[in-house]
Amino acid sequence: MGGHPAATAAAQAASLLEPRARIGPASMRGMSDAPRILAHPLPYETRLDARPLSQVDLVVIHCTELPDLAMARGFGEEILYRGSGTGNSGHYYIDRDGSIHQYVALDRVAHHVRGYNPRAVGIELVNTGRYPHWLASDHQGMDEPYTEAQVEALIGLLRWLPSQVPTLRWVAGHEDLDRTLEPASDDPSVQVQRKLDPGPLFPWERVMAAVELERLKP
Ligand SMILES: [Zn+2]
Repeated sequence: MGGHPAATAAAQAASLLEPRARIGPASMRGMSDAPRILAHPLPYETRLDARPLSQVDLVVIHCTELPDLAMARGFGEEILYRGSGTGNSGHYYIDRDGSIHQYVALDRVAHHVRGYNPRAVGIELVNTGRYPHWLASDHQGMDEPYTEAQVEALIGLLRWLPSQVPTLRWVAGHEDLDRTLEPASDDPSVQVQRKLDPGPLFPWERVMAAVELERLKP
């Protein structure tokens, strides 16, 4: 071992980032420090549409509605679109311990929200949500709290992202952008919301007070 401890830690953190996600010039101008991001690109990442970062102005907050990150990864890897050989995922996943995992590069269009994908960055928080009865009429509570480590990591990520994507301006919840109702799985006479994430326990006030972005509620 050797070298300055802080410099060593920074070098270790940087080595965990994908080359294209490393600190850009904007972060030298007093932007937030780069968070530690673990790069785990999805196998089909390079088959997702490429995009100029200049068209990206929106972050969409999700939760996985699954028990753990491993299961979320499994869903992310599933091929759902035969033509392109791709599936559904966010760009970033934040586990309950606050670790940040990048599945898709920012310059690729990930599929995580109807109607907004080309302009959006998807951030998924690991949280059980309504699993495993997502659309059951009596199972619509989203009662697992987000962890302190998750919220801190999310704030760090949201403070840093504008240094990578200078056109970023908005943050929205998935539930704000997709208001689709569907018949409940246990009672077709009852309508439930198809998407409810990140749900009532997401600390909007705290997060928005800590970041430069504005909340979008169409
Ligand atoms: Zn979602």
